[in-house]
Amino acid sequence: TTGKPDISREKSAELYAKAKTFFPGGVNSPVRAFKSVYGTPLFIKKGDGCRLWDADDNEFIDFCCSWGPLILGHNHPKVKDKVIEVMQNGMSFGAPTALENELAELILKNNKFIEKLRFVSSGTEAVMSAIRLARGYTKRDKILKFEGCYHGHSDSLLVKAGSGLVTFGETSSAGVPKSFADETIVIGLNDVDALNKAFADFKGQIAAIIIEPIPANNGLLLQSKEYLQTLRDVCTANGALLIFDEVISGFRVGFEGAAGHYQIKPDIITYGKIIGGGLPVGMYGASAEIMGHVSPDGGVYQAGTLSGNPVAMAAGIAQLTELLKSSFYKDLNNKTQEFVDAIQRFATARSYKFKVFSIGSIFWFAFTDKASISNADEIDPASMEKFKVMHRELINRGIYFGPSGYEVGFISSAHNKIDLEKTKRAIFDSLDLVFKK
Ligand code: PMP
Repeated sequence: TTGKPDISREKSAELYAKAKTFFPGGVNSPVRAFKSVYGTPLFIKKGDGCRLWDADDNEFIDFCCSWGPLILGHNHPKVKDKVIEVMQNGMSFGAPTALENELAELILKNNKFIEKLRFVSSGTEAVMSAIRLARGYTKRDKILKFEGCYHGHSDSLLVKAGSGLVTFGETSSAGVPKSFADETIVIGLNDVDALNKAFADFKGQIAAIIIEPIPANNGLLLQSKEYLQTLRDVCTANGALLIFDEVISGFRVGFEGAAGHYQIKPDIITYGKIIGGGLPVGMYGASAEIMGHVSPDGGVYQAGTLSGNPVAMAAGIAQLTELLKSSFYKDLNNKTQEFVDAIQRFATARSYKFKVFSIGSIFWFAFTDKASISNADEIDPASMEKFKVMHRELINRGIYFGPSGYEVGFISSAHNKIDLEKTKRAIFDSLDLVFKK
């Protein structure tokens, strides 16, 4: 196997040069700048089903799926038609609409973990609001998060572990006041000693634990049910709230997300991505009692000019309606399992130091020989060089992955057997190149 010649990126390069005069790094979200993979970022012009087309008319099978929202693929006819129908009547009123009720009812009727919710416009906003609610509800200031989990870019959460077993966080972005980071405690995932020590050191001060129950922003760091149950028990014992950030896992591993998958009831859940069908929607939900603390019923203020936007609600309604059809998740998850099993068999047969970790329709390629990885520390940063080679080879073979080896891939209902066969062959060839070079 030899490396494929590079695809043309002429038009993308032109657009990128222009974009750099408008936006920092030429992009409106940093990872899009292709800093950790080869070449110019691809400017996308069209998506349909599982396929993408860039400005140079290169065609790709897409496994980024807009970073998760597009569980039905691009431009799903049901979603598109509903959006167009609702748009005929105007795009925003800043007043309640029946569509908000409709989406809320669809969610609450099919999710036993929450009783009331509030719609916002992004995952960041959902998590930021959930943290404020937890602090307002418990009348405590500190929150505990995990190294290797991402919760959006609000100040309290742009915090990484310092040195030592249990630490006050250090800011992971310029512009976050140290005093904010001091309210965030950061520990490693899957470390019960650190957890107990944090609750002992900060007795009566921790408002909430926040976790991605399926950590999928720093590789796929699958946790055991026992560990998640321990978090539940420690929160209950200490009067702290457990927040599941299900911006990725929500409606992805099943309609009830990770809470349903593990059958563990958090106190607050945040959702984003899939809930908006590709339009900007997030939400947070909890028991009626906890949500009663949100303004105007309670003292925790939170608002939004475009919250519950009718066009965005329409996309969410259409998409979630499809997900509720019988065997939707079974088919999607089985399809993913077959795909990742075939790739793993190929790599194992050739003794490549390569693992595919997966859950539901989320998967992650890890250049490792470890049987499992549940903590950010276990990822070898040097392995990202291998991803970089693989990413270039896949792009040149018409397969689009998110431009970072720390990002997971997603499979949608629009990926069919033939698409996945083609992808497997491209992956096999790329792996041969990565390991034989
Ligand atoms: N939480 C999690 C778990 C996420 O994966 C993300 C985004 N990748 C966010 C929060 C932030 O969501 P958004 O980008 O919509 O603000």
